[in-house]
Amino acid sequence: MINDNITAISTALAPAGVAVIRISGKTALNVAEKMFVPSSKIPLSKFIANKLYTGEILGDGLSDFGMCVYFKEPHSFTGENTIEFHCHGGVEIAKSILKKALMSGARLANNGEFTKRAFINGKLSLSSAEGMINMINGESLCQVRAGYSLYREKLTKEAEQLQGKLLSALSHIEASIDYPEEGLEEVSLLEVKKTLDEVCNKIENLLTTYSTGRAIKNGINVAIVGKPNTGKSSLLNALLSFDKAIVSDVAGTTRDAVEGSIEYKGIRFNFIDTAGIRESQDKIENIGVALSKKFLQSSQLVLFVLDGGDISKEDEEIFELIKDKNTLIVLNKIDKEHIVDKRAEICVSALNKTNLEQLKEQIFLKTVGDNVDLNGDFLCEERHYQALKGAKEKLLCAKQNISLVPLDLLSIDIKDGWEKLGEISGSTATVAVDVCILPLLSVSGTLCTLCTPLSNFSLL
Ligand code: GDP
Repeated sequence: MINDNITAISTALAPAGVAVIRISGKTALNVAEKMFVPSSKIPLSKFIANKLYTGEILGDGLSDFGMCVYFKEPHSFTGENTIEFHCHGGVEIAKSILKKALMSGARLANNGEFTKRAFINGKLSLSSAEGMINMINGESLCQVRAGYSLYREKLTKEAEQLQGKLLSALSHIEASIDYPEEGLEEVSLLEVKKTLDEVCNKIENLLTTYSTGRAIKNGINVAIVGKPNTGKSSLLNALLSFDKAIVSDVAGTTRDAVEGSIEYKGIRFNFIDTAGIRESQDKIENIGVALSKKFLQSSQLVLFVLDGGDISKEDEEIFELIKDKNTLIVLNKIDKEHIVDKRAEICVSALNKTNLEQLKEQIFLKTVGDNVDLNGDFLCEERHYQALKGAKEKLLCAKQNISLVPLDLLSIDIKDGWEKLGEISGSTATVAVDVCILPLLSVSGTLCTLCTPLSNFSLL
């Protein structure tokens, strides 16, 4: 049983209209009583749960007029008694109220501790916590939607359904083992095989959504390559609709890779304007070239930019370097007199912004494809992918051995598959919760918005 009270600023530490300070724990009410003077004079202990009360919130050295709400256990995010103070969103105001909570009997929450308590108290599954983090970190519509679906336990429910089917298969096996004289074995094996087929097919369907899910979660990396002066930087700027990269007719201006992202049809595309991929005499430029080659490795698409007015042997050499990659050949500078190159898949003018929408569509088609329903559900988390893959392996093993091994041995693989499926929600997770939740919460500073311990807080 967790007895201590934890506190944190739950909103971002930046000037805003409102900030929320949260206190969670058995005696959160006692802490809050020392720092809130209700306008209604109703004592905090008599507050109706889930109702906002106005009053004076006391901080350390200042006070603010705001609101207080009490969530009674187990009907709170953490499952514990929880108080939220809603004060004005000044950084100093929030900090001083947090300080007062610390002086009144709460301690600063560790990274991800509210979520950890929610998991421990059965309010949130691991996958739901992951979904929540994806929603908060989401940088595209699809990522947030996928996070929401996970948060609302859609995948957990699917995995639980499959677990239910496996349990019924296991019960058939048990019955055959317990009552061998009733000749259940043959019927049971047929039933078991049918169930295994069904579960494996469902798992396979989920697994196939992972490549799109991963693209939704991480965005799609697109490297822009081509010889100097073909208009790569101009194209990046045109796609981003602002000037990120330096445009110049001096070859080799882009010595370092320049990145920028756009969202198209709900997916984030990360463009990298490479510094060229051919060696040059310039030492610094060559460092950029090495970096560009690295980016090429991790990109899902290469935009190979040709200058419509100047196609040369150098282009052929670059083409040779990228020929095994998923490539879209873009002929730029069609606003001026240009050569028609039959390899070009799309013709644009970065300068006049001609055909840019068509270019984005081509990029989308070459990476996401045209037969993906982005409103559907996708597997976005590596952890879920591995759990499902593991489950499938175990169940395939059971299927292969179905009439070769004794029934009790068969049930071991099925049980293992069942456990792997349970890892999605965390119901059968063998790893510590911290291992699963904390890295998620630490990603890209999410802590600042989820439940913000002040890392540079003066009391620490
Ligand atoms: P990079 O070296 O491939 O990154 O090329 P830049 O984007 O720096 O462009 C090189 C030169 O080509 C600059 O003078 C640009 O203004 C010019 N340029 C880029 N795109 C176009 C275009 O679509 N049409 C014309 N006419 N000039 C362009």
